[in-house]
Amino acid sequence: MKILVINCGSSSFKYQLLDMNSDKVMCSGLVERIGEKVGSLTHKKDPGTDIERKINEESPFPDHTAGMTRVMALLTDPVLGVIKDLSEIKGCGHRTVQGGEEFTQSTLITDEVLEVIQRLSPLAPLHNPAAIQGIRVIMKLLPNCPSVAVFDTEFHTTMPSKAYMYAVPYEFYEKLRVRRYGFHGTSHAYVAAKAAEFLGKKQADVNVITCHLGNGCSISAVKGGKCIDTSMGLTPLAGVIMGSRCGDIDPAILIYLARQTGMSIEKIDDTLNRKSGLKGVCGFNDMRDIHTACDKGDEKAELALNMFCYSIKKYIGSYYAVLGRVDALIFTAGIGENDSLVRELVCADMEGLGISIDLAANAARSSAIRDISGKGGKVKALVIPTNEELAIAKSTLQVLEGKKPDSDL
Ligand code: AMP
Repeated sequence: MKILVINCGSSSFKYQLLDMNSDKVMCSGLVERIGEKVGSLTHKKDPGTDIERKINEESPFPDHTAGMTRVMALLTDPVLGVIKDLSEIKGCGHRTVQGGEEFTQSTLITDEVLEVIQRLSPLAPLHNPAAIQGIRVIMKLLPNCPSVAVFDTEFHTTMPSKAYMYAVPYEFYEKLRVRRYGFHGTSHAYVAAKAAEFLGKKQADVNVITCHLGNGCSISAVKGGKCIDTSMGLTPLAGVIMGSRCGDIDPAILIYLARQTGMSIEKIDDTLNRKSGLKGVCGFNDMRDIHTACDKGDEKAELALNMFCYSIKKYIGSYYAVLGRVDALIFTAGIGENDSLVRELVCADMEGLGISIDLAANAARSSAIRDISGKGGKVKALVIPTNEELAIAKSTLQVLEGKKPDSDL
C-alpha cells in the first residue's frame, strides 16, 4: 500500500511517497519558487540510504499543477521513479494547518470538507489556502486517489476550555473564534506515542511533556495520550522563543509600538513573525550559527541562546504543575534532536523536579530514540526523532481503512 504525503506552501511543496507495509520512504522531494521565472525541484529516490539517487532541476513551474505534474512523471520515471503506474498510489495525505473546532481528526476530503477548510482560512491565511491549492491539484491529477486532510490542530482539540480560552471578551470566541488552537500536533502526537512504546507502557498510563524545537517551536502537556495544553495559540506566533518569531510577549508592546512609531499592523505582523525571536535578538535564526557566534564571544548570541532555553524551561515547569506527574520529557525536531547544549541548558537545575540528564548520553549523536536521563531522575529525558510525514501517512491510511484514529502511530 503506497501513500503520497503532500505539504503545500504558497510557492513551494514537499512530497514523500511511503510504502506502508514497511513504513519506508520510497522517494521524497521539494519543489520551490513556484510562479517565479525559474523554479527548482529536488527529487530523491531511496532517500537517506546507501543507494540514494538525487536530482536537482531548475525550470519554471508557473503554478502548483506544473510542479505536481513533473513530480508525477518522476514517480513513474524508469530510472528515478519508484512505481510503474500512478494507480499504485492508494491515498494522498495533505498536511493542513488549521482545522479549527470542526476537525478533531483526520478527514476524507469531499467538496464540503474543502469548503470548511476554506472557511477557516482567515485563521491561517498563509497555510490553509496553500493546502487547498495542493488538494485541488492532486484531485485533478489523481482523480481516483482519495485525499485525506491531516490537521496540525487536531491533536490539540482535547484541551479543556480553561486551557484554550483567552481572558478577553467572550464574544471574541463566539463571533471571531479567538482561542488557542495549537500547532505541530502531528509531531507532538507522534513522539508522545513513541515515548509510551519506548517505555513499554500504554499511552493511557503515561504523562509527557513534548518539546518540538525546530524552526518553529512548541511545547505540549500530554496526559494519558491526550493533549491538555500547548504553547502555541491562535497562531503559531505564541509560546516559546523561536528562530524568527517572538513567542509570548506582553500584548501591550504592539499597542506601544503602534503609538510610538506609527508602525502599521502589517509591519508589526512582519516584525514579530520574521524579524524577532533569536534573529531579532542576535541576527541569527539558525541555532548552529548561534553556537558559532557564541564560540567567537558574541554576547548577543549568548543572550539569545540563554533566553531561548529559559523560555522552554519555564513552559516545562508550568506543564509539570499542570500534569502533576511527568513520566518523560521529550525533545524532538531540528534543535531538539541535534542540539545537546540546548538540551543541557534546558534541563539544568531541575533535579528538584526529578529531571536531570547524563552528559555523555546527551552528547552522543544518533538518529535513534534515546534515553539521556541522569541517574536517579524520576522523569525520563528522551530524544525522539519526529516523523511528521509518516504520521500523516498513517493517519491517512487509518481514515481510508475506516479505522477509528488512535495514537498508536
Ligand atoms: P526543523 O524545523 O525541525 O527542520 O529544524 C530546523 C532547525 O533545526 C534549524 O533552523 C536549526 O536551527 C536546527 N538544527 C538543525 N540541525 C542542527 C544541529 N546539528 N545543531 C543545532 N541545531 C540544529
